[in-house]
Amino acid sequence: MKPAPFEYHAPTERHEALALLAESGFDAKILAGGQSLVPAMNFRLARPAILIDVNRIDDLFGVHVADDGSTLIGAMTRQRELERSPLIAERAPLIAKAMPHIAHPQIRNRGTIGGSLAHADPAAELPALAVALNARLRLQSQSGERWLPAADFFLGVLTTALEPEEMLVEIEIPALPARTGTAFDEVARRHGDYAMAGAAAVVTLDNNGTIAESTLVLMAVGDAPLRVRAIEALRGQQPTPEIIREAAESIDSEIDPPNDLHATAAYRRHLVKRLACATLTRAVERAQQP
Ligand SMILES: Cc1cc2nc3c(=O)[nH]c(=O)nc-3n(C[C@H](O)[C@H](O)[C@H](O)COP(=O)(O)OP(=O)(O)OC[C@H]3O[C@@H](n4cnc5c(N)ncnc54)[C@H](O)[C@@H]3O)c2cc1C
Repeated sequence: MKPAPFEYHAPTERHEALALLAESGFDAKILAGGQSLVPAMNFRLARPAILIDVNRIDDLFGVHVADDGSTLIGAMTRQRELERSPLIAERAPLIAKAMPHIAHPQIRNRGTIGGSLAHADPAAELPALAVALNARLRLQSQSGERWLPAADFFLGVLTTALEPEEMLVEIEIPALPARTGTAFDEVARRHGDYAMAGAAAVVTLDNNGTIAESTLVLMAVGDAPLRVRAIEALRGQQPTPEIIREAAESIDSEIDPPNDLHATAAYRRHLVKRLACATLTRAVERAQQP
């Protein structure tokens, strides 16, 4: 299929893109890597009257470290760059390790972090990682800007807090505290497929080796990335294998996974408990390393 007719703009400055969005609102769509939007247009599932291609706006690309130690990632940074960037490997290894699970290199060469977050597929990796890492998202419009915690950005399946005239321009990942370990894993039918279930774990230990902070975010088991409360309640406990196993088992009461062509709800329940146990154990081991 071919897309429905549309008007095409390729601004080279951010303010031009924001002006176009302000004029067009719901009629316009931003074109980032095109890896989700273009297939949707070809199937006529999306029919934007105006396409704003932001691939020529240089200041939307790249990774750098802010004065406060957080990592700032431009919304147009390609997933392949996140996979290969030494800065990301050092400061946000959870992202570097998870990137190879997204589709295939050809798709990651074009797909962007901003596009994946704005698309908000519940089975996508980057939304879950952004929530697990307490990322903040910078949304700009012609009339100003606001920063939103990633946890408040994802509202449901393919639905975010972005207003029609807003563009996601930057993602801020806070520096990880000392003695923090992270781990990611997922299960997909074939390498490169969207996952049937996935988990991202972040664990910080205090000087006595007890858990100071623990976060587990699940993907593909709800409408949006799901932060598990039972894992946050591990604070103050010794991270023994029994404690981790028990916490992973208790996830059951917090999830309502879908039944679909790819997996039954029961199988997804089984998968996330295994993934939770494995990723939390690995995150603790990494946090314990000197
Ligand atoms: C075969 C195949 C397999 C895939 N497998 C996976 C997978 O396993 N895991 C996974 O996570 N993804 C997967 N994807 C999707 C891929 O990662 C996409 O790159 C991603 O979902 C969208 O990123 P994009 O940059 O291509 O965005 P686009 O397709 O250009 O845009 C997606 C949506 O976001 C909006 N948008 C884009 N950028 C912005 C912005 N800065 N501000 C506001 N709105 C914006 C667009 O208007 C559009 O609505 C797969 C894609 C394909 C084709």
